[in-house]
Amino acid sequence: MKIVFATNNPNKIKEVQAQLPENIKLLSLEEIGCFEDIPETAPTLEGNALQKATYVKETYGYDCFADDTGLEVEALDGAPGVFSARYAGNQKNDHENMNKLLAELNGKTNRKAQFKTVIALILNGKTLFFAGICKGTILEQKKGDKGFGYDPIFQPEGYELAFAEMSIEQKNKIGHRGKAVQKLIEYLNKIS
Ligand code: IMP
Repeated sequence: MKIVFATNNPNKIKEVQAQLPENIKLLSLEEIGCFEDIPETAPTLEGNALQKATYVKETYGYDCFADDTGLEVEALDGAPGVFSARYAGNQKNDHENMNKLLAELNGKTNRKAQFKTVIALILNGKTLFFAGICKGTILEQKKGDKGFGYDPIFQPEGYELAFAEMSIEQKNKIGHRGKAVQKLIEYLNKIS
């Protein structure tokens, strides 16, 4: 089975590809000739994931799935949440986003946070959602050089390492996207 993953983020492609069984082949947006910035203007993770998947289906005709992820910080009432990509501005810069979050949490003792991923799948005329959550804490400073986004300042519950210090396999096993993708794979295996 071939399916499009509607993302321009090569790190996400790598993470998801590492989890897929050999009978499911992932096509990137590049591979279907889509080079534009797909709009993400919905007020929820579900809405954004669906908006991206729908755009690809309607514009290119492919069945596909898209994900949207938010980092929800308890002491900030769930912010940055759905606004995680643009937390420090429209330039979507990972280091500026992390610096802003570290500044907002400066002096706060509650550092609890969670990543949430929602995947929207459009396949054979049906739309389905799969979600994954990973609980953890926001570190005082950046650690590690793997991964992407907020990985250097997020330490998953039960571990002494930041996501940015973990291998893709380790992050996938316990991470938000990994859990959502696992549910997607179980569904694809069930119907194929
Ligand atoms: P989006 O799902 O690509 O829209 O991501 C929203 C924001 O969360 C962006 O700033 C990403 O860099 C960040 N993000 C998404 N997934 C992860 C992850 O697995 N680790 C760290 N940051 C992430």
